[in-house]
Amino acid sequence: MKCNIKHIEKNQGLEHWCLTHKTKATKSDLTEPITCDCQYKNLYENIVVMHPKKIDSIKIIYPNLNKSTDVKVFINNQEFTGILKLENSVIDLKDYGGLMISKLNNIKLESSKCPYCGGLHTDNGKFAYTPHNKHLCIYCGHFYKIEKKNIGNELALYFDFPNITLLDNKQVIDEKCEVSYDLLKGELLINNACCNNLELNNKEIDIVTFLNKTLENEY
Ligand SMILES: [Zn+2]
Ligand SMILES: [Zn+2]
Ligand SMILES: [Zn+2]
Repeated sequence: MKCNIKHIEKNQGLEHWCLTHKTKATKSDLTEPITCDCQYKNLYENIVVMHPKKIDSIKIIYPNLNKSTDVKVFINNQEFTGILKLENSVIDLKDYGGLMISKLNNIKLESSKCPYCGGLHTDNGKFAYTPHNKHLCIYCGHFYKIEKKNIGNELALYFDFPNITLLDNKQVIDEKCEVSYDLLKGELLINNACCNNLELNNKEIDIVTFLNKTLENEY
């Protein structure tokens, strides 16, 4: 799908947005054309419309968070290499991880509506656990303000995600840190074990702090 880059007037310094890929567009230097920053345009070649009732399982796996924040998505136990569309919502790859950290931080998710385009709001990265009242609409790129601080995730409008239950247990993640999260079961495993603490380079860290920090820039 081709980029559809539009200019936004008076938007706090954020001037260009790609409507196709829900991502900001920038110039690497003044002589270059404006390009969209989306890192997985290939997924947008395969937009899959699904009915939420036809989805029994959504699982995400970060194969090794020590090395990269690449994530794999599995829907109904099959790897999903496209962009999921549920009714009016286009679920971006980052939105699954945003949901995971919101749930881990016991956030009550309530999506707001963008006054410019009517798009519903999803927060990810550090915004998935930091309540705020200035949201950036990723459908149109406009900033907008709401009265009361909140955190939203469109996925939570279609499913009733259980809270994540963690066991009092520790995993050493020096070799690798594979995170697998089953959204509809509320099951989160690190290297195949359920735990609330991690040990990295002889230092202990709780899992919520670790994942908040590791995914803070994934927005
Ligand atoms: Zn684009
Ligand atoms: Zn909007
Ligand atoms: Zn927001």
